[in-house]
Amino acid sequence: MQFDTRVVHDGQPNDPLTGAISFPIYQTSTFSQAEAGAPMEYMGRTLSYARSENPTRTALENAVASLEGGAFGLAFSSGLAAVNTALSLLSAGDHVVACRDLYGGSYRLFTKVYARFGVSFDFVDTTDAGEVERSLRPNTRLLWLESPSNPLLCVTDIAAVSAIARAQGVLTVVDNTFATPYLQNPLALGADVVVHSTTKYLNGHGDVIGGAIVTDDTGIRDRLKFHQNAAGAIPGPQDCFLVLRGLKTLSLRMERHCANAAKIASHLSEHGLVERVYYPGLPSHPGHAIARRQMRAFGGIVSFVLRAEVEASRRFLSRLRVFTLAESLGAVKSLACHPPSMTHASVEPEVRRAAGVADGLIRLSVGIEDAADLVDDLDRALEGVPAGTRRPRAHCASTSLAPAT
Ligand code: PLP
Repeated sequence: MQFDTRVVHDGQPNDPLTGAISFPIYQTSTFSQAEAGAPMEYMGRTLSYARSENPTRTALENAVASLEGGAFGLAFSSGLAAVNTALSLLSAGDHVVACRDLYGGSYRLFTKVYARFGVSFDFVDTTDAGEVERSLRPNTRLLWLESPSNPLLCVTDIAAVSAIARAQGVLTVVDNTFATPYLQNPLALGADVVVHSTTKYLNGHGDVIGGAIVTDDTGIRDRLKFHQNAAGAIPGPQDCFLVLRGLKTLSLRMERHCANAAKIASHLSEHGLVERVYYPGLPSHPGHAIARRQMRAFGGIVSFVLRAEVEASRRFLSRLRVFTLAESLGAVKSLACHPPSMTHASVEPEVRRAAGVADGLIRLSVGIEDAADLVDDLDRALEGVPAGTRRPRAHCASTSLAPAT
C-alpha cells in the first residue's frame, strides 16, 4: 500500500476487542495474569508490565516502523531518549564519527555524557564522503548523521556514506527528524538505524515530547529493546495516542510545510537585508542535487542570517507576530528560534562557529498557516532591522572543525 494509506492505517487497526476505529489508550501500569508467570499475549506481545509492553505503544511502534519501511519500531519518552538508546549499542573504547552540524542536545549527550564513559567522537563534514572515509578508525562503531541537519540544513548523501561505513563494519544511524519518513527513508538508502524525535513532525501539533527508533536488524532490535526496558525511558500511553493521531495527517501536513517553506526560502533569498538562506530546495544550496535524489521534497525548516547579524536577529525575532519565538520545530504553528542561544546553547561558541553556525543565525519552523500571512509577518519584522553590510560567504560544507573530544 502507498504511504498515504499506510500513514492512516498501519499500526493503527480498529480495536480488535471493540471495533473502535481510534486505537484505545491502555492507561495501566500492569496486566493481570491467570497464573503466576503466564502473562496474556496481545497483538503479538506479552503483557506483563507496562514498562516492557503497552498495546498503545505497540501500535505507535508498528506505525512508525511501517512508515520508515523497517521491520521493528521502538518508542521512547523523548527524542533524546531515543538517541541515548541508539548510543547504548556502544561500549567503552568505541569511536563515533558524527556530522558536525547537529542538534545541540545530541552533541551535549555525546560530549558531556558518553565521552565520560570512554566513547570518543569526531565531528566531521559528512557532506564530504572522502572526509567520512578518512575519519573511520579500527574502533569506529557508529556513523551518526542528520540530513538535513539542525540547524544548517546540510545534506549528506546517505547511500554513499552508509556504503563506506558498511564496508568497514560501521553501523549508520540517521536522525530523520527533519525529513520525516514522508520525505526520506534512510533504511532504504542503506542506513542501519533511524532515530526520530516524535515531538516534531510525527506528532506535529506541539503538544507531546517523544522519540522513536526503527531498524530492520533483529540483533540490533533485541539490544535496543533490552535497553528500552532496562533503562525505562518509555512514553506514556496518552502521548503514544497523541502521536498516533498526529501521524494520520503527516502526508497532508508535510505537503503544506514544504510548500510554505519553499515560498519563504525564495522570498528571503531575494530580500536585501538577508545575507544567506539555508534551504535544500534552493538550487544554490550545495546539497540540492542530493536532496532531490534522496528526498521527496525539501522539508519545512528554513535557516537564514541577516546582514547585520546578531543585533538584527534580536530585533527581527522580537517583531514577529505570527511566528512564535520558541524552541522546537515541526508543529502546525510556525516557530522561530535563535539556535546559538536556544537549541544549540550547549555547543561551545567556538565549536558552533567552526561548524558554520553564525552568531545571528535564525531558524524558522514553517507551519501550515497561509503562506501570504507568514511572508507578511517576516516582511513586517524585517522592517526597521539594521541594514548591515555584505560579508564574505561561508557555507557549512566549507569550514573545518577539530574533533570535540
Ligand atoms: N534530534 C533532532 C534533530 C532534534 O531537533 C531534536 C530536538 O530538537 C532531538 C533529536 C531531540 O528531541 P526531543 O526534544 O524530543 O528530546
